[in-house]
Amino acid sequence: MYDVFDREHLWHPYTSTTNPLPVYKVDRAEECEIVLEDGTRLVDGMSSWWCAIHGYNHPVLNAAAEAQLKKMSHVMFGGLTHEPAIELGKLLLGIAPPSMDKIFYADSGSVAVEVAMKMAVQYQYAAGKPGKSNFVTIRRGYHGDTWNAMSVCDPVTGMHSLFGSALPVRYFASSPASRFDGEWDRSDMLPLQEIMEKHHDEIAALILEPIVQGAGGMWFYHPEYLRQAAALCREYDILLIFDEIATGFGRTGKLFAWEHAGVEPDIMCIGKALTGGYMTFSAVLASSKVADTISGNEPHSFMHGPTFMGNPLACAIAKASTELLLNSDWQVRVRAIETQLREELEPAAKLPSVQDVRVLGAIGVIEMKKSVDMASIQKRFVEEGVWVRPFGKLVYVMPPYIIGSRQLRKLTSALVKVAGEL
Ligand code: PMP
Repeated sequence: MYDVFDREHLWHPYTSTTNPLPVYKVDRAEECEIVLEDGTRLVDGMSSWWCAIHGYNHPVLNAAAEAQLKKMSHVMFGGLTHEPAIELGKLLLGIAPPSMDKIFYADSGSVAVEVAMKMAVQYQYAAGKPGKSNFVTIRRGYHGDTWNAMSVCDPVTGMHSLFGSALPVRYFASSPASRFDGEWDRSDMLPLQEIMEKHHDEIAALILEPIVQGAGGMWFYHPEYLRQAAALCREYDILLIFDEIATGFGRTGKLFAWEHAGVEPDIMCIGKALTGGYMTFSAVLASSKVADTISGNEPHSFMHGPTFMGNPLACAIAKASTELLLNSDWQVRVRAIETQLREELEPAAKLPSVQDVRVLGAIGVIEMKKSVDMASIQKRFVEEGVWVRPFGKLVYVMPPYIIGSRQLRKLTSALVKVAGEL
């Protein structure tokens, strides 16, 4: 049932062109379902990689897109501004950590990470410390596929090990072993502490995904780690960058994951669910300290300016999506998804093939003992009527928040059933 042109000419993510993994042709998507060309309906467990929090083809988001299209899809942001960028900015600053005061709009998650890293380096330069130009991060992280974003992904699980020798060399501390809901083990802090003690003169910033490490391992760690990491950053004059691209907009049960620890960053990246999954867009938020220091010294401006910066169509949809979220009972929905995921995934913990089962907010993870075979497991999920795309040893779901309990049960039953067959 595959498309011959697609198979021969289109590159899909993380697969071969000569022997590609199968792809399923989608005709449309509505609410929580993806409808294939042959009419098969799949309950969506992925929110199209953390984005489609309101489900697909949402009338409010469609209306926002159509209204903005009638005015303009795009104008450059250099020398011009517009209502959608301004209104979105007001909305975002109202929900961001209080220390955030400036917003840089960018095109995608990876670009936001590039921008955040450049900001940190330019801040240190402007503060008279040009030697502080490297980064420290934690293992099992994932921050995107562009060059500097790759350099702070886990060198092994971050999918970029091949590029190792071509990438800038960063400092990696072990990822905290203390579970989100477990006991705090003080020794978790030692690797980061040691790196900062030894190398703080070279380090501009610590970058990490707060609480939930996504594509590098789907790991949920203890909030105390963030509190102590922030204290170390202050001690050593190292900026703290939170990558909330995957965790933002309610996914972990809080609007943003930093709230679990009550720790505010100097720079924060958001993306993915920012537009409710309608289009690519991201933003980098920064404190006045960061922005004013950069602006107060040569060359008196931040040296970045993508063509599609502040794209009006994306801003209008992002504003509509964020308002839709804030005006909904998202906390109740995410909590209900969490409770149901806990109950219904628990039986998987007893399966001999399963290493661990964990749930936080609207994220449910089954970690297998061995890596799964993508082509065959994907086929099994489609046969079960669900859309779930595992990677490595991780079989996980993060459904749209609008999912109903019957649809969610279909997802969890398929997960437990298919995990039991491995
Ligand atoms: N940071 C995190 C935490 C992510 O999960 C991702 C995407 N999976 C990115 C950055 C990169 O975003 P994008 O794919 O939009 O470039």
